[in-house]
Amino acid sequence: MATTYDFDLLTIGGGSGGVRASRFAATNAGAKVAIVEMPFHAVSSATTGGFGGTCVIRGCVPKKLFVYASQFSADFADSKGFGWDMGGAPTMSWDFMMANKTKEVQRLNGVYERMLSSAGVTMLQGCGSLVDAHTVKVDHLDGTSTTYTAQHVLIATGGTASKRGARHHERRGTGAAQSAAEGVCDRRRLHRR
Ligand SMILES: Cc1cc2nc3c(=O)[nH]c(=O)nc-3n(C[C@H](O)[C@H](O)[C@H](O)COP(=O)(O)OP(=O)(O)OC[C@H]3O[C@@H](n4cnc5c(N)ncnc54)[C@H](O)[C@@H]3O)c2cc1C
Repeated sequence: MATTYDFDLLTIGGGSGGVRASRFAATNAGAKVAIVEMPFHAVSSATTGGFGGTCVIRGCVPKKLFVYASQFSADFADSKGFGWDMGGAPTMSWDFMMANKTKEVQRLNGVYERMLSSAGVTMLQGCGSLVDAHTVKVDHLDGTSTTYTAQHVLIATGGTASKRGARHHERRGTGAAQSAAEGVCDRRRLHRR
């Protein structure tokens, strides 16, 4: 007798890779797909995340917004040489910028959820762990857990920074970028050089 599973594909991790693979399997192969992701938080951590993953929440997107924000200072200074007069020194509100950054991250998180939903992918919230080749346990925020079976399990949990090894390792490479991103996404005020 053929084994029956809850899903054809169960993906752990709703970042760029997990979301793409899940949508592709659901829409192009007609597979019954579920995806597990940590609950959303504007600053993802070991226990929070959100659909969209690192790129949307603490990587590509916030990084670009911070870079854009940092460029205006030089532009304001340069503009004087081109005849601009803004009637005083421009001011910058870190709180305002951070609130808008979070708003954009939330908007994109919603876009990712809608894309999964319209592809027919079941979204499961919690921390997924592999029990065996066909079984995944999802620990929910309220302390309960649910076990699901799938013919295929895809682990797409991304990477985390490693703080082991030589001191310079902490300041270089992807791990350092992620650590720095986690810090800046939660920074309460602007540090001036
Ligand atoms: C600061 C920074 C800037 C970046 N800028 C760029 C850029 O400009 N352009 C670019 O192309 N790339 C950029 N990247 C890289 C890009 O973000 C990653 O390549 C991409 O996010 C990797 O996708 P992924 O799906 O493999 O992992 P992730 O996006 O990290 O997704 C993994 C997901 O799995 C979830 N997860 C982990 N464990 C579990 C679990 N047990 N249960 C449930 N869910 C779990 C996490 O919450 C996360 O959402 C940047 C990265 C950083 C850190």
